[in-house]
Amino acid sequence: MNSEAMRCLLCKKPKCALQGCPVHTPVPEAMALYREGRLDEAGELLFRNNPLSAVTSLVCDWKQFCYGHCVLNVKQVPVRWYEIEQEISGAYLFRHKLSRRSSELAGKKYALVGAGPVGLVSAVWLYEAGADVTLLDANPRMGGVLRYGIPAFRLDKKYCDAFETMFAEAGITFRGGVKVGEDVTLAELSAGYDAVLVGAGAEKPATLHIPGEEHSLQALPFLKDPSAFDLGKKVIVIGGGNVAMDACRTAVRQGAETWVYYRKTFENMPANPLEVEEAKADGVRFRVFQAPVEVKEGGVVFRDCENVEPEDGGRVVTRIIDGTDHFVECDTLLTAISEKPDFGLFAGTSAVMNESGWPSTDETGKVEGLPNVWMAGDCILGPKTVVEAVASARQVFQAWTANA
Ligand SMILES: Cc1cc2nc3c(=O)[nH]c(=O)nc-3n(C[C@H](O)[C@H](O)[C@H](O)COP(=O)(O)OP(=O)(O)OC[C@H]3O[C@@H](n4cnc5c(N)ncnc54)[C@H](O)[C@@H]3O)c2cc1C
Repeated sequence: MNSEAMRCLLCKKPKCALQGCPVHTPVPEAMALYREGRLDEAGELLFRNNPLSAVTSLVCDWKQFCYGHCVLNVKQVPVRWYEIEQEISGAYLFRHKLSRRSSELAGKKYALVGAGPVGLVSAVWLYEAGADVTLLDANPRMGGVLRYGIPAFRLDKKYCDAFETMFAEAGITFRGGVKVGEDVTLAELSAGYDAVLVGAGAEKPATLHIPGEEHSLQALPFLKDPSAFDLGKKVIVIGGGNVAMDACRTAVRQGAETWVYYRKTFENMPANPLEVEEAKADGVRFRVFQAPVEVKEGGVVFRDCENVEPEDGGRVVTRIIDGTDHFVECDTLLTAISEKPDFGLFAGTSAVMNESGWPSTDETGKVEGLPNVWMAGDCILGPKTVVEAVASARQVFQAWTANA
C-alpha cells in the first residue's frame, strides 16, 4: 500500500476534483477503493470518467490541477494523487476491454475527425453507449500529439498502442492516413453520419515574421520524427512554452549543444515550470530577454529586451532595445512560438466563421451553420492540455446523449 494514499482526507467536497481537475476525477472514491486494494474497480471508475487517465496522470501539470488544489496544501504537503492514479490507471488501461454498456446511442453512426485525445475518449464513450464509430486521422496511427508530439522519454507510446488494440478488438473503424478536407470532405461525412466531431487539434505553427525565417525548422514536424533531422552541433530553440521545452530536450538527446532563447523572463514562460527545470537538468542552456530579428546563414541575429514598468502603474511590458543587435551562431534554429488550429477542412462548407476567422460554436461545441458537426479540444480551445481536451470532448458527448 502506498503510504501517500493514507494521507488523503477523502474530502466530502474534494477541491482537487471539483475545482482543480477539468474532468472532475473522482479522487476520494478511487482513493478509497485503492486503499482497500480494489484496483480493478478503481481503474474502471477512473477509465469511465476519463479513458486517458493513464496518460493525464503522467502529463498533467498537477501543480495547477489536483495537487495544487489539495486541501492539505494549506498547512502540510499535498497528496501526490497523480502518482496513485498512474499506478492504478497505468496498469488498468491494458486490461480494459470495450463493451456495449448501454444502448443509449444504438443505431447511430458517428464520425470522429482526429484520433488525438478528443477522438480517443469520444470513441470509447460512443462505443460503450452502443453507437457505430468511425475514427479518421491524417496520420497513419492513433494518438495525435500523444504519439506525434510529446516525446517518448516523457510519454511511452504503449498508451496509444493500447487504444489501437482496444479499438481493433471492439471493431471500431479506424481510417488512418485520411485527411478530411482533401481525401474526404466534411460535407460527405456530415451527409453519411448522424453526427461528426472535429477534434483536429492545433497544429499550424505561428511564424516569427522576420527575414530569413525560411531557414528555420518548426518544432512540431521535428518532434513528429526527430530522427529524420540532422541538427548539427549547435541548436537554438526559440520559444518558452511546452513545445519549446520538448524540442530542446529532444535536441539535447540527439547530442546537440542546445540553447533556448526567450524574449521575456523565466517567470513569463508559459511552459510548465517543472519542464523548464528538467530541461536545465538535461543540460539545455537558456538566455532570456532575447528577441530574434533575422535568421542568417549559420545563425540568428538577436536584439536584447527589457521589462518596462509603465509610469501609470499598468502591466509591465517587454520592449526591444534598439542598437543591441548581436549575431549568435547555430547549425539549426528550431521555432516553437505557438500553434493554432487549421480550419481548412471547413472551406466550402456553410460553417459560420466569427470575426477571428474561427468557426462559431454554441456552448456544446456545435458548429453554427452545419446541421450535425461539433468541435472539441485544441481546435476549439486553442493549444491547451490533454485533460482540457478530454473535458471538452465530454461536453459534446453529454450533449449527444442528452438529445438521444
Ligand atoms: C509538443 C507538445 C507537448 C505537449 N505536452 C503536453 C503535456 O505535457 N501535457 C498536456 O496536458 N498537454 C500537452 N500538450 C497539449 C496536448 O497534447 C493537446 O492539448 C492535446 O493533444 C489536444 O488534443 P486534441 O485531440 O484536441 O488534438 P491533437 O492531439 O492535436 O490531435 C488532433 C488529431 O487530428 C488530426 N487531424 C488534424 N487535421 C485533420 C484533418 N483535416 N483530417 C484528419 N485528421 C486531422 C491530427 O493528425 C491529429 O492526430 C502538448 C502539445 C504539444 C504539441
